Amino acid sequence: MRRIMNYVNGKFEEGEGEEKYDVFNPAFGEKISVVREAKRTEIDRAIDLAHDAQSKWMRVPISDRIKYLFRLENLMWSKLDQIAEVTTIEHGKTFEESKGDVVRAIQNVESAAAASYQIMGRNNKQIATGIDEELVRVPLGVFAAISPFNFPVMIPFWFLPYAVTLGNAIVVKPSEKTPMSMEMIMSLVGEAGYPEGVIQLINGGKESVDYVLENKKIAGVSFVGSTPVADYVYRKGTSNRKRVQGGASAKNYILVMPDADLEGSMSNIIGSFYGNAGERCLAGSVLVTFPENHDRVMSMFRKKATELKVGYGMEKTTDMGPLIRKEHLERVEKFIDLGQREGGKLVLDGRNSRPKEYPKGFFLGPSIVDNVSEGMSVMNEEIFGPVASFYTANSFDDAVDVINKSRYGNASTIYTASGLNAKKFTESIDAGNIGVNVGVAAPIAFYPFSGMKDSFFGDLHPQGGDDSVMFFTERKVIISKW
Ligand code: NAD
Repeated sequence: MRRIMNYVNGKFEEGEGEEKYDVFNPAFGEKISVVREAKRTEIDRAIDLAHDAQSKWMRVPISDRIKYLFRLENLMWSKLDQIAEVTTIEHGKTFEESKGDVVRAIQNVESAAAASYQIMGRNNKQIATGIDEELVRVPLGVFAAISPFNFPVMIPFWFLPYAVTLGNAIVVKPSEKTPMSMEMIMSLVGEAGYPEGVIQLINGGKESVDYVLENKKIAGVSFVGSTPVADYVYRKGTSNRKRVQGGASAKNYILVMPDADLEGSMSNIIGSFYGNAGERCLAGSVLVTFPENHDRVMSMFRKKATELKVGYGMEKTTDMGPLIRKEHLERVEKFIDLGQREGGKLVLDGRNSRPKEYPKGFFLGPSIVDNVSEGMSVMNEEIFGPVASFYTANSFDDAVDVINKSRYGNASTIYTASGLNAKKFTESIDAGNIGVNVGVAAPIAFYPFSGMKDSFFGDLHPQGGDDSVMFFTERKVIISKW
C-alpha cells in the first residue's frame, strides 16, 4: 500500500510513525494509500526546521515574497486537472467540483499578493512635543494549519499563502482522510522555489494535532473541522498561549419566500443541498417554506433531486459523488431513519438510488424528509450528507425565530423577489455568511469566511483581508524622540 509522504525542508519523507489511517477511493470502496501518525520527534523536527527557516524568510523583502505566489499560482493553474483528479479519487466529489476546490485555493494565492499593501502600518507625528509614534506589523514565527476532509485543497489555502507571504513559516496537517491532494501540491511548492522549511507538510490524526498544540514554537493554529474538535483545539491551543482560529460545524437553513423566482432559482437551491454530496459546511440542510408555497417548492425540488445522477466523480455524467467513508454513510442513513421515527415524512429515499456499477462505493442518493418540526434531529443536527429536511413556517418571524434557535451560525440564505424581505433577513439572521438568492454563500478569497456561534471559535476568521493580516502578524508600536 502506498504511504503518504511528509514534506519537510524541501524533501519528501516517508515518516516513521505507525501506519494508522487508510485512505479510500470512496466511489470504489477501496483502500488506495495509508497515512502514518507522525511521531512527536518528527513533528518537533519539522517545526524546528520551519522555525529556523522563518528567521531568514522574514527578512526577505515582502515584494520578493510575493513573487513566489505568482510562480505557485501559475504552477497550480498548469496542474489544475491533475490535482482535481487526485481530489476526486480521494474524496469522491465530481471532477468539476474538484476543479472548483483547486480554483478557490488559487484565488487565495492571488489574494495574498495584496499583502504588501495590507501589512502597512500607521504613524502619527508629534503625539507629544518632539515625539513620533508608529505602528508596524511583524510576523510571529511558525503557524500550523489543520484541515478537514471536505475541501482538501481550498481549506489549507485559506491560510498557507497569507501566513507565508506575511513572513511566517507554516506546517500543514491535512485530513488523514484526504491527504493526497496536498501531498501533490507540495511538489509545486518546491518548484515555485520556496526556501526549505518555510512550508512543511506533516500527516497524521489526533496525536499529530496534539503534538503540534504542545509545541512551544508554534505561534498560532488555523483549524477547520467539526465543532467538538474545534472546541478542543481552541481550548488546548489558547491554554498553550497560541493564537487559534477555528472554523467548525454547521446547520444551514434556506428560506424560500412565496415571491421567490422558483424557476430561476431551483438549480441553485438543489446545488446548495446536494453539491459535494452535502459534505459542505455551507450546504443547505433545512428548507423553510410556508403553507402557501410548500407544495410547489417540494414538487420542483423533488423532481430536480430525482434527476441527479449519482456515480463516480470522474465520469462526465455524474452530478453527485459518494460520501467519504462507510461509517459516515451509515451515520447519514441513521438520520433518514431518525427523521421518520421522530415524525417526518420520507418523500425521497436516497438508499434506493445507489449506482449499481459501484456496489462497494459509499453512495447515497438525494433524500428528502418532509414535515420536520422543532426538536427533531434532522432539524437541528449537522448531517453532512445529501438529506434535505423541509420545515413549514407560519410566518416570516416564525422562520427567523426557528433559524436563530440553531446552535450553529455558519450560513443561511433567503430566496425572494423582495428587497424588503432580503433586508429584514440579512439584518435579523445570526449567521456569518448570508445569501440572498445565492444558495452557497461562500465568500470570495479577500472576504473573511465568517461563521458565528458554534460554527466558529476565535475572533479573526479564515481567508484573506484584514482578519488574516491581523491573525498572521503582531502589531508593534514604536515611540521615538530624536
Ligand atoms: P474533523 O473535526 O473530524 O477533523 C478535522 C481535523 O481535525 C483533521 O485534520 C483531523 O485529523 C483532526 N482531528 C480529528 N479528531 C481530532 C481530535 N480528537 N483531536 C485533535 N484533532 C483531531 O472534521 P472532518 O470530518 O474532517 O470535517 C467535517 C467537519 O468540518 C464538518 O463538521 C464541517 O461542517 C466542518 N467544516 C467547517 C468549515 C468552516 O469553515 N466552518 C469548513 C469545512 C468543514
